[in-house]
Amino acid sequence: MLKIWIDAGHGGVQPGICYGGRIEKAYTLPTAIALQNELERCGFTVKQTRTTDVDVTVGQRARNANAWGADYFVSIHLNGSVGHNAMGAETWHSITGGQSKALAQAIQKEVAALGYKDRALKSEANEKGKDSLCVIRETNAPAVLVEVGFLDWDADMRIFDAAKAAQAIARGICNHTGVAYKPATAAATAPATIRADTSGTITVKKGEYYQMRTYSPTGARVVSGNPDSVVVVSRNVTRGADGAEDWYLVPIGDRGSQTGIYLSAAGDKNGKQCCIVKIG
Ligand SMILES: [Zn+2]
Repeated sequence: MLKIWIDAGHGGVQPGICYGGRIEKAYTLPTAIALQNELERCGFTVKQTRTTDVDVTVGQRARNANAWGADYFVSIHLNGSVGHNAMGAETWHSITGGQSKALAQAIQKEVAALGYKDRALKSEANEKGKDSLCVIRETNAPAVLVEVGFLDWDADMRIFDAAKAAQAIARGICNHTGVAYKPATAAATAPATIRADTSGTITVKKGEYYQMRTYSPTGARVVSGNPDSVVVVSRNVTRGADGAEDWYLVPIGDRGSQTGIYLSAAGDKNGKQCCIVKIG
């Protein structure tokens, strides 16, 4: 079984690109978690740098993947430009080419097909003639780094969807490794049902991810003023008691809509403990 190391870019005190209220680390993580589901469904063995909002140094990312004996290393990022005037998807590979470049090509083809401008493949040597990107240079396995569009280019962010990005990357990995891509079943991809009850319990499955917003009679407000903040629910939770604050979680793909599952989170604003208290 091939072992894929997934590396969600940035995290914790390292936000990555920040622009217009968007924070890179909040996009890379749900993409990485969705990618793990995609790859495991296709039969790969998967480990990740992080499944929560924590900072891991780039050197440690590579060492962890090496210690595990990863067959491939896939780092997920979103791009940014100084003038906020660049767009498109690109994938980085090792200057030595080989499997790194071939995997990058396979992933780039699928990600660009989501609708991004195709910025093609990139690689860069440092002054010592080694790969300039640490995670590519220090990782034993063939490594790539995919930039899923520009965070500071609105049209790219209208295309961005963590689930679709994950599917595209997974298809690229499958194509490169000769593994058949196995699509999710209809039940697994169906949007969350809007429930008619006003109290009860919801079970959020591991790997599902949502945007979290607060609700008031005048409308919805996104937590922390970040209109695209993404909350990752990283473990199975079931909870029944009401808390002091009302929240609702909008499945990704339904951004901007005020419909959704209204939740109450007592003491845990990360959505890890929640129950339905209002229905949109
Ligand atoms: Zn980044």
